[in-house]
Amino acid sequence: MFKVLIKNKATNEVRETVFKFNWHDHTEFWLTEGSASCDCNLGKWFADAGNEKDPNCDCCGDQYTPVKVILENGTEVLLCI
Ligand SMILES: [Zn+2]
Repeated sequence: MFKVLIKNKATNEVRETVFKFNWHDHTEFWLTEGSASCDCNLGKWFADAGNEKDPNCDCCGDQYTPVKVILENGTEVLLCI
């Protein structure tokens, strides 16, 4: 389990979303450059965290960014985006 803080760059609001699988070496890549870095995923998770509808963002959008990961043991992983 780990948490990801996702920022909406349009409003600067940051929300926390929880992932139930384990963080490992490749997860950072997944989140910063892989399929999870897409606005269509980040936007959905951001909306979910606020109980809002999926905004159906474009894949190539640039509105959402993951800013920080918090691991189960409290370790914080700053993401280089
Ligand atoms: Zn996408």
